[in-house]
Amino acid sequence: MTPVEAEIRRRIEADGPVPVATLMQLANAHYYATRDPFGKAGDFITAPEISQVFGELIGLWCAAVWSVMGRPNPIMLVELGPGRGTLMADALRALKIAPAFRAALHVHLVETSPLLRAAQERTLKDSGVPVTWHHNISQLPKGPALFIANEFFDALPVHHYVRRDKGWHERVVGIGPDGALAFGLSPHRVPDRIVPASHEHAAPDSISETSPDSLRIAAALGERIAGQGGAALIVDYGYDKPGSGETLQALRGHAFVDALQEPGESDLTAHVDFVSLADAARLGGAAAYGPVPQRDFLLGLGILERSAMLMRQATLEQALEIESGTARLTDDKPTGMGTLFKVLALSQRNLPPPPGFTPKNT
Ligand code: SAH
Repeated sequence: MTPVEAEIRRRIEADGPVPVATLMQLANAHYYATRDPFGKAGDFITAPEISQVFGELIGLWCAAVWSVMGRPNPIMLVELGPGRGTLMADALRALKIAPAFRAALHVHLVETSPLLRAAQERTLKDSGVPVTWHHNISQLPKGPALFIANEFFDALPVHHYVRRDKGWHERVVGIGPDGALAFGLSPHRVPDRIVPASHEHAAPDSISETSPDSLRIAAALGERIAGQGGAALIVDYGYDKPGSGETLQALRGHAFVDALQEPGESDLTAHVDFVSLADAARLGGAAAYGPVPQRDFLLGLGILERSAMLMRQATLEQALEIESGTARLTDDKPTGMGTLFKVLALSQRNLPPPPGFTPKNT
């Protein structure tokens, strides 16, 4: 039995079945604390691990926003859930062409996994900029800041509520008839206000998925950006229209597995509800743009031009890798990364739309 399953069973014995969010929180904390999950030998691959161009373009995006902010010095460059630190390393390398920004910035990484913190430290040790680690965004110092989050929000816990005749009930994890962990439904009704207003008229038995942790972080980012200046770029797979339904999935060795099978040994994620994130950030006081498909965002930032430029200076093997990476990040098939992944930007209100967004994306 995995340590996470043992912990879940202890909690069920003490207090009864636990919310889906508890499963996700415990499983992911253990998962990220005990392994580097990225790449062919791991469980999944992310955009910065596919192509260096991804982080480079995001670095240049930050420099452009810093410029229209009036070049505040110092400026914090904050990444949420930086993985191996690859995106930040690529961004900082590309930013050698913006020495004034590079000299003004201090990198802050928000990361809970000690193992991944060590990987980030290795990746960034020669970057030439100061780096500080934090457990959550409330520990960040005050001041203007640019935030980056790639595949961070999809790892945060979600709650599931199921519509029954008289109201909503929480979907929970308990012990099934065969003694294994099993999904069930709490007999207690939750107050209607717990469920997003857009799900109010959902059909019987439909599931409402919501991530209060994500909304709290988006609201805090919105408030902070509005009050202290800055912007944020949130990239993730998710949906851009309010809707009901659950999207919890478990990935192990690049394949989908049962979320209740060996919890803590697979990556649990849920699609990001971008409309709710944007609304939360707006309530906090920031302007929100998008989400736009990752493909449109990257093409708008000049991914084809940058890739062509890099390919001219590369070996044949490197050139083929850059070409296939760019194709994968901008793949416009319905299941391609360019379509599935979306980009949301937040910014202080008195700025023009950030690069890659138009006023229409507001
Ligand atoms: N951005 C990276 C990694 C994405 S995986 C990339 O694109 O490759 C998710 C990352 O978020 C990991 O670094 C994980 O350890 C971190 N993480 C997950 N939950 C977190 C939390 N609650 N607080 C801070 N970091 C978290």
